[in-house]
Amino acid sequence: IRENLVRAEKLEAVEQMGAAISHEIRNPLTAAIGFVQLLQEQRLPPRKRVEYLGIVKAELESAEQVIQNYLTFSKPSLDKIEEINVKKELMQVMNILKPTANQNSVEINAHFALLGSIKGDRQKFHQCFLNVIKNSIEAMPRGGQLYIETHYSSSQITIEIKDTGVGMTSDQLQRLGEPYYSTKGSKGTGLGMMVVFSIVRAMDGNVRVKSEVGKGTVFRFTFPNFKSKIHNE
Ligand code: ADP
Ligand code: MG
Repeated sequence: IRENLVRAEKLEAVEQMGAAISHEIRNPLTAAIGFVQLLQEQRLPPRKRVEYLGIVKAELESAEQVIQNYLTFSKPSLDKIEEINVKKELMQVMNILKPTANQNSVEINAHFALLGSIKGDRQKFHQCFLNVIKNSIEAMPRGGQLYIETHYSSSQITIEIKDTGVGMTSDQLQRLGEPYYSTKGSKGTGLGMMVVFSIVRAMDGNVRVKSEVGKGTVFRFTFPNFKSKIHNE
């Protein structure tokens, strides 16, 4: 009986997950199909063609991210430890999210203290900051400022992601990272922050969140094993 119960619970979790991700995948795919249909129109001016292709790419990337989050959650793979070039990875994340930021009239301000690397799974590091920065942009639907800053001390790096968005109540802050906890209705899965916390933990990192309703939110990450370029040589 006990085994059956465990099985039933597992099945339920899988079903819940399936329902949560299916719409998050379906939405961007539906949008991508719509724009591909527009692209099939022969007389489309080249400028529109480029714009639509950009949207299709962003929507497909968004669907891919949902799947990636799901995989990280359901099957935490063995870490592939490599040197992570912090600035390079954060720049890549910024580039992926630029169209979303533009759509929301969000201005991105990046300040990287210096070049350097930490050790960890590059793919997961990327995923972690994609999830966090995406949330920050989504917290500013009517525009705002996004600040991405890195600092370092002798052996650790601090990465700060700050937004001037809607902020969170202390109750919301408490529930951050709970599976399926989302205030975005059908637009959210509530998996993003859970994945962030699990990645940070796996990297022996630390994250602190400060938030004020109507003012904004700051995420401050620290990771050990930081090596500045200067010391590398
Ligand atoms: P989702 O984005 O799918 O809702 P997440 O796990 O990424 O799920 O985030 C969970 C919830 O945490 C969000 O729905 C939102 O309420 C809150 N949240 C996360 N980041 C921010 C932020 N920068 N500003 C305000 N609220 C946030
Ligand atoms: Mg999210």
